Amino acid sequence: MQHSLKREAKRLDMDFDVLKSGGFIKQTQEDLFTVRLRCPGGRVTSQQLRMAAEIADKYGQGEIHNSFRQSIEVPYVHHKYFDAVDADLKSINWSVASCGPRIRVPTACAGCTYNPNGLMDTQNMCFEVDKKYFGTATTHHKFKISFSGCPIDCARTREMDLGFQGIVEPELDDDKCTSCGLCVAACEEQSLTMVKDGKPVRDLSKCNYCGDCIKVCPVDAMIAKRKGWLIRAGGKHGKHPIYAYEVAQFATNEQGYALIEKTMEWYKANSKGRERIGATMGRLNLDRYLTEVVKPLGLEVIETPEQRQKFWASGNMYQNK
Ligand code: SF4
Ligand code: SF4
Ligand code: SF4
Repeated sequence: MQHSLKREAKRLDMDFDVLKSGGFIKQTQEDLFTVRLRCPGGRVTSQQLRMAAEIADKYGQGEIHNSFRQSIEVPYVHHKYFDAVDADLKSINWSVASCGPRIRVPTACAGCTYNPNGLMDTQNMCFEVDKKYFGTATTHHKFKISFSGCPIDCARTREMDLGFQGIVEPELDDDKCTSCGLCVAACEEQSLTMVKDGKPVRDLSKCNYCGDCIKVCPVDAMIAKRKGWLIRAGGKHGKHPIYAYEVAQFATNEQGYALIEKTMEWYKANSKGRERIGATMGRLNLDRYLTEVVKPLGLEVIETPEQRQKFWASGNMYQNK
């Protein structure tokens, strides 16, 4: 904490870290705070949006800031209004978000409900995870979770402590296929090639489960065999970023919840000081996390750097070894 903030905390007889944990973040200006509102997946109702504007008008300076993690923030709120802000939020069953060493409000892209690229329902999963785990103390450091609907990964799952990204496995219905070749042309990974009998064949080592071949097939010969989450663990941004490891694929929502719970147990038991879980994995070895957390849950584990290769740009300096 800056020296001047320490002085102000003493003057006000307040613990700014505790307030920050509760969503009231001290600003540089005397007596003023930014109030962070809870917006899982970046989605709010029009009623919540009106309330945020009302709070900004009544207690702030008529301004709203959208945080990088999809939260609505109301800056320039005097601490004397904290109770009034809480009461206003409660009146519509809303609340502030949390900061500090706990599970933060999860973020998510629009997902499959109305985004044509979406393969999984990111918003629903994000809301469920928020409901189940928001604010869970980690005892070590912050813990961020995000959800992307497809491999374009708009929600940056590689930068999260746990990231969930939608994937789909294509399957060919030989009888329907007219050998038009459109799927082969659409596959940017060069995973598909036409074989002698004029049917596309998939090289699994290159397929990143994007589903483009399914979308482009004019006769529904390329179909979805299964959908699920590709799960990444151990990522973070900040001064010393770590890119997450792909640890499991085709997980269901239920398996995702189980992984979050078991990962939190592992993090609490094995982390040191203010270590983020990616640093713990680096110190103890990823294999230990896979053996103690991922495998016992019966997930389809991604174990080797070779299996991860296809999810990264070739020659990427951050590629997990
Ligand atoms: S990750 Fe995919 S589904 Fe989500 S917003 Fe981006 S393109 Fe759409
Ligand atoms: S799912 Fe994507 S990467 Fe896999 S074969 Fe189809 S187009 Fe290619
Ligand atoms: S796009 Fe459909 S019909 Fe054309 S080659 Fe691929 S699977 Fe067969």
